[in-house]
Amino acid sequence: MKVGVPKETVPQERRVALVPEAVGRLVKAGHEVVVERGAGVEAGFSDDTYTAVGASLGDAWVAAVVCKVQKPSPVEIEKLPQAGGAALVGLLQASTDADLVRLLARRRVTAFSLELLPRITRAQPMDVLSSQATVAGYKAVLLAAQTAPRFFPMLVTAAGTLPPARVLVLGAGVAGLQAIATARRLGAIVSGFDVRAAVKEQVESLGAKFLAMTDQVTAEGAGGYATELSEDQHKRELEFLARSVKDADVVVTTAAIPGKRAPILVTRSGVEGMRPGSVVVDLAAETGGNCELTQPGTTLEHHGVTILGPVNLPATVPLHASQMYARNVTSFLNHLVKDGKLQLDFTDEITRATCVTHDGKVLRP
Ligand code: NAD
Repeated sequence: MKVGVPKETVPQERRVALVPEAVGRLVKAGHEVVVERGAGVEAGFSDDTYTAVGASLGDAWVAAVVCKVQKPSPVEIEKLPQAGGAALVGLLQASTDADLVRLLARRRVTAFSLELLPRITRAQPMDVLSSQATVAGYKAVLLAAQTAPRFFPMLVTAAGTLPPARVLVLGAGVAGLQAIATARRLGAIVSGFDVRAAVKEQVESLGAKFLAMTDQVTAEGAGGYATELSEDQHKRELEFLARSVKDADVVVTTAAIPGKRAPILVTRSGVEGMRPGSVVVDLAAETGGNCELTQPGTTLEHHGVTILGPVNLPATVPLHASQMYARNVTSFLNHLVKDGKLQLDFTDEITRATCVTHDGKVLRP
């Protein structure tokens, strides 16, 4: 089977869908891999590192399966074989881009939107959301440390003793737990909060304090995800968090609810209650923000508090983000490929959840 790896064209995207290590394994398994020239350069992988493991360089859009990170542009879709029959794998964001899905169906592409993978144990090795959230959680803390006007660790020096930074992480899913672990490694005093009471132990096992509301709201949904809080619960949550936010030097927010706008956890008045020099890093910037003042892709200052709304953080750690993504993609391909070619079984939960177009039809969303 011929596998194509095009160069990503979205601005600031430095990741590549398959790294040489993954390509080498596909070649050993008998597949042909064609990589667009320069596809891996920004992630640290020269063309030579691909040819050294048996890939060829050329038109990566003419392949049985094209592996991407970002969704293709309409121009890129036209590069897929006109006769149809090609497969496309990537973070297609199909549920928020109906036009893209229609174009893919019209081109008779079999398209897989990897962010739709079910969060089941069997799909864990393919879980792109987890691997990329790990990168985002780590990088969010580094951004906070770089922005904050203070050290994270406690320092005892001849020039005086400096207290450690107090870091509060809101939302303790994959990104939040990684943010907690990273802030702890930098020596900060860390607290974590989530509406899923089940994460208390995970937060504490990382050496952080779990903030528990006296009348703890719990919003545990299917697959380990949170559900939206009622208006009253949300109001109580905001009141509870305002006190902890006020005492923090750094707040990293990561709260999300699948398919919904991110919940507001830090209000304008919450920010105004923070000390000047404090920092908020809002990882939910792309889905509306957890802080009322966040502007996606922008750093702003309000009452002396710096608020960062970074977008696409995984692209800023392109080598390891690509390495993890490539492992996810190859596990996904291994799941679909039998006897050297794609064999789709729509009774399989993973195939059914991710395949958005097939045979000229829109299957989802
Ligand atoms: P996510 O990105 O959807 O959400 C991040 C966090 O925000 C979650 O922990 C959620 O509880 C929290 N949150 C939502 N609303 C909130 C609010 N109002 N206040 C505070 N926090 C709020 O989630 P995620 O990190 O992708 O995954 C969440 C969980 O799913 C994981 O911790 C894990 O338990 C489970 N999971 C399972 C698998 C698997 O079995 N394959 C894979 C990945 C994740």
